[in-house]
This record gives sequence, structure tokens and C-alpha cells, in this order.
Amino acid sequence: MVDEAFVAEMKEKALRGEGVTEEEALELADAPVDVVVRSADEIREGNMGDGVDTCSIINAKSGNCAEDCGFCAQSKHFDTGIDEYDYLEPDEIVEAAKRAEADGANRFGVVVAERGIDSERRPKEFEKVLESIRRIRDETDIEPDASLGLITEEEARELREAGLKHFNHNIETAPSYFDEVVSTHDFEDRIRAIEVAQDAGLKVCAGVIFGMGESVEHRVEAAVALRDVGVDTVPVNVLNPVPGTPFENYSKITVDEILQGVALYRFLMPQKVIRLTGGREENLRSRQGDVLQAGANGLLIGDYLTTEGQDPEGDREMIESVGMEIKDVEGCSGGEIEYGDPEGGDALEGRTDDD
Ligand code: SF4
Repeated sequence: MVDEAFVAEMKEKALRGEGVTEEEALELADAPVDVVVRSADEIREGNMGDGVDTCSIINAKSGNCAEDCGFCAQSKHFDTGIDEYDYLEPDEIVEAAKRAEADGANRFGVVVAERGIDSERRPKEFEKVLESIRRIRDETDIEPDASLGLITEEEARELREAGLKHFNHNIETAPSYFDEVVSTHDFEDRIRAIEVAQDAGLKVCAGVIFGMGESVEHRVEAAVALRDVGVDTVPVNVLNPVPGTPFENYSKITVDEILQGVALYRFLMPQKVIRLTGGREENLRSRQGDVLQAGANGLLIGDYLTTEGQDPEGDREMIESVGMEIKDVEGCSGGEIEYGDPEGGDALEGRTDDD
């Protein structure tokens, strides 16, 4: 068992803004969980204050996805009985963005269940997404985000011109465990999509799912991959096994494992937004607030893609009960992006992160 002096040394390092190394994170995984969690909370407070960044999402096209991600209710390879539908109209998406804004979300994500949005094959659908982004930009103060699968450089450029500020593309798990989760594309595809979005000047939100049978070493390896590619915010989902998927019988990960994982992510990425997202109600129940005291400083509020979330008022109360407040957290905001000509001289003007 690692002693507390080592944890204190790592905490000081993280408080200076330096992420711990992969080896140091694995040593921390051997330390008492409560000590690591307490220290991660101090790192979050020291580096980033008491703000909690909130976002909300809409499933803008549900089900029938050609990919086979083993956790996913929306893959056409599995019989999960979810409500399937084609691309929503911009009116519905913009209305949902307005509701999310009223509920206190800082960002709003338009999500489609696809390998990629494929603007060549489905130009009308891509135009619907573009129009939705433009209207969210023009009709609300919420920052538009999107999760559209593997996008091309041209698509990323058009999305940015429409007003997109953030792009979500989760890596789901460690590079060395990815093949256990997905067989229809590989880890490198995911990293390429992140890099395409970054090259277009978009902030990137990319994270993982805990509880898919991975080890703590895999969780740390995934965090290092996210850090290496330079993501801005890191959503941490926890598997809520869906009947009909290959992962339906996975037993739940323990609360201590979740807290430890989040705390290690704070040591590894001391100045990023680490966001608790899907699966929190089922896996943490009354202990969701504990994650905000283990280094996390972001929350997905409202409904998830195929399941209902909890009442936003309850989330607000939970945030306040741990002495934190909903706030646009520095480093996550998309800043004032120049919408004119992203290929021009100051293409990336307005990026406010440290990349
Ligand atoms: S690509 Fe996305 S929507 Fe499709 S199966 Fe994988 S996680 Fe689900």
C-alpha cells in the first residue's frame, strides 16, 4: 500500500498544474481510496474553483446505427427495443436547446447515432444539423455542441462556420481494450475524428465509460490517451447495462471504483473539466454528490440519449449541497469564435484553452 506522503507529493505536483505520469497514477491506485479522493477534491478546488460546468443533450437521430459498440442501445446489431427515429427537425432541436438553457445548462449537444454524419450521402440531414446549430447560436445564449461520429475536415469546417463551438467524440476506453468493446471501427478512427475537430478550431469533449469490464490500468491508459490528444473536457460515463446488448449482464462497478477513477483523472488532468455523465443515477444513486467531491467539476443534466435523467432542480440542489455552483468553467467555454472564414489568417482566433 502506498503511503500518504506519496499522495501528498502528487497532489502538490497536480496543484502546480502538472498532471501525474501514468506510472504515478498507477501507484496512486494502490493508495487508500479516501485519501486519493480527498486530495483530488483539493486539486479541483485549488486549480479550478467551485464551479460546475453543465451541459445537456438531445438525441437528434435515434437507433439503427451500423456500428457495434457493445454498450450501446442504438446499434442495429442488437435488439434493445428502443424508440428509433430519423433526424429531428431543427424546430424540435432548437426548442430543446431553449429548455436546456432555462434548466441552467451552459452547453447543448446535438447527438446523432451514426458512424458519421456523411454529408455527401445525406446532404438534407446534414443541412438539418447545420440549421439547428445556426439557430441555437442565433436564438439562445447556450453554446452549441455536437456529437456526429467520424466527421471529415469539410464537415468540421461547415459546422464551425454554422456556429458550433464544441465537438464530442468519446474514446470510450483504453486503446488496448478498445477491441473488447467495438469491432466495426478502431481506436485510431476515434482519435482522427478528435484531431479533425481540433484542426477546425472546435473545442473537444471526449471521454470514457467506466464499468465495461476494464481494469484500473485501462482507465488510466484511457486518461493518458485523452491527455495526449489534448481534449478540453472529459465526460465520465458509467455503464448502465442495456438488455439486448452484449454487455447486458455486466455487474455494476462499485462506488469506490468510480470515485477512485474520477480522482485519478483529476490527478492526470488537473486543469480539465471532468464531467459526470450517463449512468450516474443507476450506479451512484444517493452518492452522486460524492463524485463532485472526488475531483469532478462538470455534470450532464436533463435526459440521456435513450434513458431519462433526473430533475434539473434536484441536480442544482445536489451541486449546492456540496458547496459548489453552476458556472461556465474556464477552459471549457468555447470563447468568442470567429465565424467568418476559418481557413483565413486567424482561423483559430478565439480559442481560449491551453492548446
Ligand atoms: S457509433 Fe455511437 S450510436 Fe453507433 S453503436 Fe457506437 S456508440 Fe452507439
